[in-house]
Order: sequence, then C-alpha cells, then structure tokens
Amino acid sequence: MTLRTNQVTIDYRAVTKNAAAVSRFAGKRIIAVVKNNAYNFGIVKAVSALMDGGADHFAVTLAEEAAEIKHARRGAYVLQLNPASESEIRAARSRDIALSVTGLPWLETHKKSLRGIDLHIKINVGMNRYGLRGAREARRALELCAEYGLSPVGLHTHFPLAEEEDLTGHDRQIDEFAAVYRELSALREFSYIHAENTATLLRRDPRLSFCNYGRPGILLYGYVPPPAEPPEWLAPTLFASTRVVDLHTVLEGEHLGYGTSFSAPRELKIAVLPIGYGNGLLRARKAMPVYIDGRPYPIAGGISMSHTYIETDDSVKIGDEVEIYGRNARPDRLAAVGLAANSEQTTALHTGA
Ligand SMILES: *Cc1c(COP(=O)(O)O)cnc(C)c1O
Repeated sequence: MTLRTNQVTIDYRAVTKNAAAVSRFAGKRIIAVVKNNAYNFGIVKAVSALMDGGADHFAVTLAEEAAEIKHARRGAYVLQLNPASESEIRAARSRDIALSVTGLPWLETHKKSLRGIDLHIKINVGMNRYGLRGAREARRALELCAEYGLSPVGLHTHFPLAEEEDLTGHDRQIDEFAAVYRELSALREFSYIHAENTATLLRRDPRLSFCNYGRPGILLYGYVPPPAEPPEWLAPTLFASTRVVDLHTVLEGEHLGYGTSFSAPRELKIAVLPIGYGNGLLRARKAMPVYIDGRPYPIAGGISMSHTYIETDDSVKIGDEVEIYGRNARPDRLAAVGLAANSEQTTALHTGA
C-alpha cells in the first residue's frame, strides 16, 4: 500500500464511545447536534456512529440536513432548528421531522400548516438569533397551538454566554429559562426540554436538571471549549498527518515563504510540510506545535496555501510522519491558543467526509 502524504482519518468508533459516555456523564439522554455535515465528520456516517452509541435524537440547522438523516436512518428523531419555510414544513410533515418554533411571527404565519408536526418552542434568553421572548410570548404560542390543534412537545433554548469567563450573565439566563419552564410546565407537559450545549453540559448544572435532554455538539466529536480540559472518558476522533518533504538550513535574519514577517532569530533547521490552508488548516494552527514521534516542533512563519514550515533538529528526516492533529495536538486547543472557535478547525479541515 502506498502511504498518502496527507491523511485525515476520523475514528467513528470513538464517536460511538463518546455518545454513550456523554449521555452517562450528563445523566440524561441527548439530542446530538449534527449541523454543518456533523462538524465535518460526514452527517450520515456520524449519525450512524452516534446511533450505535445510543443517541437517536438529532438537531440540525437546515431542512436539507434533516432530510438527509431521515433518508438514511428513518428511525432517527430529527429536529430542524432554523425557521422552516412553507415548503420545508410540507417536507417535515411527510418525513416526520420536528420543527422549532422560532418566533411568534413564524407561528402566526404557518399555524395552519403545522398540525401533526412535533413542535419545539424556542425561548430567546439573549442569543437574539431565534426564539420567543419570555413567558408571555411563550404562553401566547401555547394558546395558538391549542387553537390550531398543534403539538408543542418541546421547549428549548440556547445559551450564548456559557463559554465566558464571567458566568454572571449565563447564570441569569439559566434563571430566565427556568422561570419560563416553571410557568409553561404548569400549563402543559413537554416531552423534550433541552438547553445544554457542550460548555453547559460539562458543568452538570443542577439548576438545569429539569432539562431531560442535553444538546451537545463538539463534545460528541471528542473536543471541549476552553478552559475545560477533556474529561478522561472522552476520546479524540480526528487525526491528520503529513510528511516532511524537504529540509533546509536558514541563516539568522533570513525569511521563510512569502513576505518578510518571519526572520530567523538564529540559524535554524527547517522542515517543509506540504499542507496548508488550502487543506483546511486554520492559520491559527501555527500557535500550536506539530509532533514527530511524539516530540513537539514549532511552526515557523505563516501557514500558506499548500505549505507550512517547522523548526526541526537533526533527528528529523525527509519522509517522517508529522502529526497535525491527533493524540498530542487537539483541534479544540486552538480556541485557547490561536484565536479560533472550538469547532472552527473541525468544520474547516478537508476531511473528505
Ligand atoms: C451548535 C449548537 C449546539 C451545540 O454546541 P456545542 O458547543 O458544539 O456543543 C447546541 N445548540 C444549538 C442551538 C447550536 O446551534
């Protein structure tokens, strides 16, 4: 077998393990978030892996993603989070896809078409993307549902401040959602109450014990937002490697690649790697070392379209395998060191999935 120079491998068994472990850790079932081609893990393959781990509820942003899951796995429960158009509502009915009630105007517009579809009422606690504001609007939504014979089976929200250092605002938003829940649950029993993304789920906040489902994304794929460190039961899933294709010595003051932003502070041994942003590596990736034989080597200079340079030593040879992501280099660490969101690298990397 010829080894490819650049390889990206996804460990779907690890995804399966993570699905089971996350649910066990959270002490509740999960609605697995598989938007954006399952964070670029391949939506159908990821759904299968997650189902093997016991997760059979999924959330997506788009109608086409929901349809793709239902086409592949009819038994999956799928919730479309983004506002559905009239034609998407027809598709949701015929394919048994649940929809989010993303606002009172949306419900007013579509109330005559929504009978028989599972509806999850979204509460806006500060994200200001979708959702009803406060218990008053939510009560009005329930009234409309009753009037038109609709099925509001779910209540959910999304917390925008869960990854902040100061959690005061987050705490207030938890209280707000809990208050809406208390008021609405006196009027109606919900089968699905969900709010916790990865950052929130990891805290196992007792104030959210009324949520019977968690709704994590990145955690299922093995990664966490900073400052959280991955729990020991979580398995990394994404492996990317390349090979050293050339070696050079550069003298003090010489540059590397395009431009002059990098000047060698002294004589350096440099290895050339044939991977760059054209392969989906974030430029922020340069804040972390790569690994050869488990040893770290810093990236020198910028990341260009198809090449990256690293500072090496005499032990490194042409053809050596270089870990870009794997056991040592975690894509989520970029959020801590490299000005990237925790899912930014998985969704950008060319996984081929
Ligand atoms: C992306 C998303 C999630 C999952 O977030 P993670 O931080 O990846 O766990 C949950 N809910 C909504 C509404 C989302 O958009």
